[in-house]
Amino acid sequence: MKHFSGILTRWYSQHRRDLPWRATKDAYLIWLSEVILQQTRVDQGMAYYLKFANEFPTVSKLAKADNEKVMKLWQGLGYYSRARNLHTAAKMVHENFKGRFPSEYDDIRSLKGVGEYTAAAIASFAFNKPYAVVDGNVYRVLSRIFGIETPIDSTQGKKEFQQLANGLLDKKEPGTHNQAVMEFGAMQCRPVNPDCAVCPMNTHCYAFAKKKVQELPVKAKKVKVRDRFFNYIVLKSSEHTVINKRVEKDIWTNLYDFPLIETPVEVNEEDFLASGEWKKLIGKNSHVIRSVSAPYKHVLSHQKIYARFWEVECRQGLEKVVSAPAIIIKQKDIHKYAVPRLIENYLEEKEK
Ligand code: SF4
Repeated sequence: MKHFSGILTRWYSQHRRDLPWRATKDAYLIWLSEVILQQTRVDQGMAYYLKFANEFPTVSKLAKADNEKVMKLWQGLGYYSRARNLHTAAKMVHENFKGRFPSEYDDIRSLKGVGEYTAAAIASFAFNKPYAVVDGNVYRVLSRIFGIETPIDSTQGKKEFQQLANGLLDKKEPGTHNQAVMEFGAMQCRPVNPDCAVCPMNTHCYAFAKKKVQELPVKAKKVKVRDRFFNYIVLKSSEHTVINKRVEKDIWTNLYDFPLIETPVEVNEEDFLASGEWKKLIGKNSHVIRSVSAPYKHVLSHQKIYARFWEVECRQGLEKVVSAPAIIIKQKDIHKYAVPRLIENYLEEKEK
């Protein structure tokens, strides 16, 4: 379509939101915003962007930061692999590129956690290089306007949409073009009930003409969601408690939670207290179960977690029930550690 880029960039100049990462050409800050905004809404991500940009104004400052500090700052944002990759990639820039964020697409793409979309975004926004971005917003806009029904989560779909986006790209102003398509998807061609009557693309739009707006884009696979049942054992002595660094390859790696007994299905209290895992953890330690919480439901993209918190007072000291990587800490110090949102919710409720 001849006027695609012109219509969208005109729309963009009138409707764009003023966002701090749009006011800079600093590739590091643009990258930071892109990592934060993957899977996160702008209104939620903004505070995190400002915190990170303020705490680590340069990529080298981030590279030299303590990992615990990075994770703590990220707390509450979810998808923690982003924070780990962010930190690793900052070290790569610091060491391999002398602290200067690379400007070549392939170098950007070589950084940990940077995929095709992010590399194209940084190359075009910061360096005005001609790489077309294709994110969720772009898939939606292109599939609706051009009537493409190939599933966006198929190999064929990815190829087809990328080729179309490449062909539409304004090679003179790729940064503005990319921002315009993405913003148009976020603000005008929204996932649900977009206001097509006021859309500058409505006379060119296949989905609007064919009344297929809600049917596009097409996705092939349904996300499979796994149920998990967590029993957190909140061990306490008079002043201390036990937390556990999650070192396994699972959700929340490198964050802290409480000693955990996971069961394949939901179990009642009687069966739980008779289980080998419980006996192994508590052993012969004289203890009192102070409380058992109602189940907390915590929904992640691929997992639904049902968690109960067992508050247990140990009378013979916590050393007897603790083994690495769990550590004993003062109860009042728990806020110094990066914990998943689920644990944060539990702690907040206890403080009420
Ligand atoms: S007419 Fe509707 S579906 Fe088509 S581009 Fe505009 S907002 Fe999207």
